[in-house]
Amino acid sequence: MKLLSFLLTLSIFFVSFQASSASRIIIENTTLIDAATLARENMTVVVQGDEIRSIEKSGSKNIIIGTEDIVIDATGKFLIPGLWDAHVHLTFIPQLDYETTYKLFLMNGITSVRDTGAVLSKLQPAIDFANENPHKTPRVFFSGPLIDGNPRVYKGGEPGFPELSIEVNEDTDLEALIDDLIKEGVSFLKTYEMLSPSTFVKLLEIAKQKNLRVTSHIPLSMGLGNAVDAGLGGMQHIRNLDLACAENAEEILAQRQELLKNLDLLPGSALRAKIHQSQRYAALGNIDENRCNKIIKYLATNNVFQTPTLTINTVGSKRFFADSKWQDTYKLLPSEVQKSWLDSSVNLSQQPVSENNKMFQDWSFKIVSLFNKHGVKIIAGTDTPIGFLTPGFSLHKELELLVEAGLTPLQALRSATITPAEFFNLESKMGTIQTGKYADLVILNSNPLKDIKNTKDIYKVILKGHIQN
Ligand SMILES: [Zn+2]
Repeated sequence: MKLLSFLLTLSIFFVSFQASSASRIIIENTTLIDAATLARENMTVVVQGDEIRSIEKSGSKNIIIGTEDIVIDATGKFLIPGLWDAHVHLTFIPQLDYETTYKLFLMNGITSVRDTGAVLSKLQPAIDFANENPHKTPRVFFSGPLIDGNPRVYKGGEPGFPELSIEVNEDTDLEALIDDLIKEGVSFLKTYEMLSPSTFVKLLEIAKQKNLRVTSHIPLSMGLGNAVDAGLGGMQHIRNLDLACAENAEEILAQRQELLKNLDLLPGSALRAKIHQSQRYAALGNIDENRCNKIIKYLATNNVFQTPTLTINTVGSKRFFADSKWQDTYKLLPSEVQKSWLDSSVNLSQQPVSENNKMFQDWSFKIVSLFNKHGVKIIAGTDTPIGFLTPGFSLHKELELLVEAGLTPLQALRSATITPAEFFNLESKMGTIQTGKYADLVILNSNPLKDIKNTKDIYKVILKGHIQN
C-alpha cells in the first residue's frame, strides 16, 4: 500500500513536472482574430503544452519572459485559431499516403480534420500514425464507414468509387454496429443515400441515445423534412435541397422511389448517378422560393449543420484544376498521383463548361446565402482529395467560395473554426483564442478580414503547442 501511494505520488510529480517543463511559446504584439470577439490589437499570447495559458495586452507586467521561452515577434501580424477541413477522405486515393496529406494540411494551417467516410480497416494506419505522432498530424475526427443500404454506392471495384461503405438493412443489429464503431473511436456517424427510411430512422434513434451526431446524404427514398424529424445532425454538399426546394418535390420523390426499385439491376454508383442526372437539374430549374425558405428555416431551428463543400460543387464550373497555379500544388503529391492528376486536369480543361454546371454553381451559392440569412450553421469542408482538390489548399478555396456566396470573411472563418468545434460539442476547447483552449493557432502575415485570401499568407502554424515551421 505504501509502495503504491509512493508510486502514485511519484507519477503525479512526474506528470506535473513534464507539463510545467514544456517550453512556453510567447507570441508578442499581434492582432487576435476569431469569430467570437472583436479583433484585439497589440496582444501577447502565452502557450504552454497544448494550452493557451494567458492572453495579455502587450507590455503587460504579468508576462515575465524566461530563458527557456520561445518568443515570436508577431508585430503587424494576425493570429487566428487553427483551421478545420471538416469534409475529407483520408483513404480515397490509396496512392496518396496519409503522411503527405497530414503535412499538406498542417502547412496550410489546418490543425483539425473530420474524415467523413472510410472503412475502418483502411483508415486504421492513418489513425495509428496520428496517435503515435501527435505533433505531426492534425487532430483527426472520423465517422468510420458510410452507412449505406442496398445497392451501396461506394462498394469498391469501380473507377472513382473506392470501398468507403458498409451495407445495413432492416435485419442488421444497428445497436451492436454503432457500439462497435464507438469502440473503434468514431465520434460521429455518416449515413448514405441507399438506406431505407425505416433503417435511417432507427439508426438516428440509436445514435441519439449514444450521443453521436449523424451527418448525412439523406436517403434518396425519403424527403428532407422527415429526415430532420428523425433527428438529423448534419448534411453534406447541400444535397437533397434540390428536391426539397422544388415546386414538384412530391412528384420527384415518387419518381425517385420508382427508380430505386432498380429494375435494371444497376450497381449502386450507377443507380445513384442515373437518379441524380435525371432529376437534379430539372429540380434546380423549378425552385419554389417559399418552400425553400421554409425548409431552410426548419434546418436552422433544428440545428442541422451544413457542410456545403462549394469546392466540390463548383468543380465543374470553376475548374481549379485548369489553373496552372493550382496544378503547381500537385508537385507536393506523390509522383504517381501528381502525374495522373496533371494528365486528367489537362484533358478535362479542354471540355466546355456545361450549362448544368453553371446552374449548379449558381444554385449552390444561392442556397448557401439563404443558409446564412436564416442562421443555419455552416461548416467549411472540401471533400479533398476528390476533384483534384489538393489537401490543405482546397480549404482556402472553400473559404473564398463561401465569401463569394455572401458570407463575410469573419463568417467564413467561423465556418472553419467555431462551428466545426460545435458539431463535436468541443467549443469550450477549440475554435477561438481564449485562455484554457487547445494551442492550435495560425499566424498570418496579412489581415484575413480585409481579404479572405489572406488565410493563405501563413507565417507560422502552431499545433498542439508545437511550432510547425
Ligand atoms: Zn465526401
